[in-house]
Amino acid sequence: MSGQIRINEAYCVELGRTVSITEARRAYFSLPAPRARFTFQCPDSGCLALDEPPTITGVNYSSLPTDTYRAAHFRDPGVGHAVDCPWQADEATTDIAPASEAETKDREAKRKLHDFINEFDPAPAGRQVGTQDVGGADTDRLAQNRRGDMGVGKGESFTNRNRTKSFERLVEYYRNAAELDKEEFFSLQLKVAGEGEMPLISYFPNVSKAHPGQPKRVIHGGARLEPRKDAGFMLWFMDRIDGKGVYLKVTNQEMEAYRFRGYFNDTLAQETADYFRIFALGRVVLSETGKSYRLEVQDLNHLTLYAVTKKQPDEQGG
Ligand SMILES: [Zn+2]
Repeated sequence: MSGQIRINEAYCVELGRTVSITEARRAYFSLPAPRARFTFQCPDSGCLALDEPPTITGVNYSSLPTDTYRAAHFRDPGVGHAVDCPWQADEATTDIAPASEAETKDREAKRKLHDFINEFDPAPAGRQVGTQDVGGADTDRLAQNRRGDMGVGKGESFTNRNRTKSFERLVEYYRNAAELDKEEFFSLQLKVAGEGEMPLISYFPNVSKAHPGQPKRVIHGGARLEPRKDAGFMLWFMDRIDGKGVYLKVTNQEMEAYRFRGYFNDTLAQETADYFRIFALGRVVLSETGKSYRLEVQDLNHLTLYAVTKKQPDEQGG
């Protein structure tokens, strides 16, 4: 493995901004079919100023993610960069701060991943003032571009590259990290803006471990989709809390106002899906009837779904 820094964001020519691979995927699935693949370039301002900015390859972003893990990521062929491009620096020389044993373990584990997050900011992305407008997709987009919530802007600080507001990028990082060996996975630390540092795993409780009154966490688990009648959808988790069922409901109005609804629709429409794996930043509340729990998610950018397909009986081998 080269000591070169793994590129975790790229400038997307078609979108006109710098994105992480998960943002590229949501944007891709929000295009009407047939979809054309995006062109990515090195996001460094020096590289973008070149006559031919270096091309970056986007891997696996144009397929819907399933629970059979194939991490979407950027691959940098490493050619044609500007001389002082920070993405071309030697990774070993960037960790200059002395580290404790725990910090060293954390860093070593992170180096094995396509991308990693040191700090996550859970503040809602692109929150609008006077938010009831159902056709607010464009307003939302403008708000997001302005605030840079869809990835860092052109030429923005390189040193912030492992700090993000992107929930989906955080989830992809978690899923990729879950493939490390257990000791490495458990050693990963995450700083959450407004809360401080904690083990990554404690920010991601399984739904059976969630409880009302808990601070917002990334609650996750397998869930089954209720038959859809309209734009919205409802999923019931397979795990329970205190013997009560737990559901997640997205209303018609929320879906209609959501810019990336096409991505949810395509994911939920996969006919081979037996159930869905859900990651949602929120908290559980007792439902009005008191007979079940509802997982409350305030921002659909804080929800992500993966189709889970059980192995077909006639499928051969591993
Ligand atoms: Zn570059």
